[in-house]
Amino acid sequence: MLLPQIIPQTPADATGSQTLEHILEPTSGLALWLTSHRQPAWRGKAIDRWLFARRSQTFADMTDLPLELRSQLEASYRIWTTSIVKHNSSEDGTEKLLLQLHDGERIECVLLREQERRTVCISSQVGCAMGCVFCASGIDGVVRNLTTGEILEQLLRLAHLLPATERISHIVVMGMGEPLANLDRLLPALATAQNPDGLGISQRRITVSTVGLPKGIDRLCADNPGYHLAVSLHAAEDRLRTQLVPINKSTGLAEIMASADRYWEASGRRLTFEYVLLGDVNDSTDHAHKLVRLLGGRAALVNVIPYNTVAGLTYREPTPHARERFLEVLRAAGVNVQVRRRKGARIDAACGQLRRIAMQSDPLSQPTQ
Ligand code: SAH
Repeated sequence: MLLPQIIPQTPADATGSQTLEHILEPTSGLALWLTSHRQPAWRGKAIDRWLFARRSQTFADMTDLPLELRSQLEASYRIWTTSIVKHNSSEDGTEKLLLQLHDGERIECVLLREQERRTVCISSQVGCAMGCVFCASGIDGVVRNLTTGEILEQLLRLAHLLPATERISHIVVMGMGEPLANLDRLLPALATAQNPDGLGISQRRITVSTVGLPKGIDRLCADNPGYHLAVSLHAAEDRLRTQLVPINKSTGLAEIMASADRYWEASGRRLTFEYVLLGDVNDSTDHAHKLVRLLGGRAALVNVIPYNTVAGLTYREPTPHARERFLEVLRAAGVNVQVRRRKGARIDAACGQLRRIAMQSDPLSQPTQ
């Protein structure tokens, strides 16, 4: 099996002059390397298990591999391309990592603890091109897509925060970036996460959250509709939605809802629609009625997200009164509503916040591209 995060240790890599994508190219895969080193193919599976199920951080730890093979692997590959720049923990058990990538870019990922659940929230891009006006991730635009390896490394880094008796139970692709704009690299990472010899996270426990890119939704639908799809709406009419989510100008709600319906038909699984409540912007009872009309009786869950304040932005949370009235309209109309509990607010766990704060306080961390 392909292990994209294992990067061949080349001289160019050591100087950091090649990109991760470039370095990755010749690796497809470890299986070839094993054959050329006269090793049986099943060793690849064993290495998978060590990395993902047993969470070993070095080849030296892989004690059932022959000693010589371990040192050959150590000399030829490196497991980590990221380093942990910041590790914040909050009292509610939420932990957030700011990771530095091989080219100096930074991304965030989060571990959330909720009863038995161990959910990880991962990023798919450095920055974001969607430009949602209330979100920290997109303020400076998108820098680049993450590689499959970088997506997997987030999972491994977060898995390492758990004691050996606990495992990641759920993945949400709700960190920085637009996952459907980077499906080529995301899908292999999510496939790896499902490997029963590795992290073993079943598809129905993986949520892909999108701003609503109809072509991307259709592609996911054709490729693999087993993932749980969450569509970020934030407004139920095009005029307001285009103000809040500028990419809406080129898509429009009708097309988004039609592709969401196709996904629902293919997957047979209830869709989630996310709605960040912004005080005096999209939180009136009128907005709620429009949302009810847009949903039109679909078997969907509306996930109302409390707004996490972003430094430098003037949006704010609705008053508790406005929030309750909004929810009341949805509930009265029979809409399934869930209010996402705020987690890790004090550690700036909303996507993109930690990276921005670090960028502002550390000029060396400014994006280089
Ligand atoms: N691009 C994808 C996934 C990343 S954002 C998407 O748009 O769905 C994940 C969710 O967090 C989205 O619903 C997004 O709108 C929301 N979000 C972004 N900034 C936020 C903030 N400051 N407070 C609360 N939710 C936020």
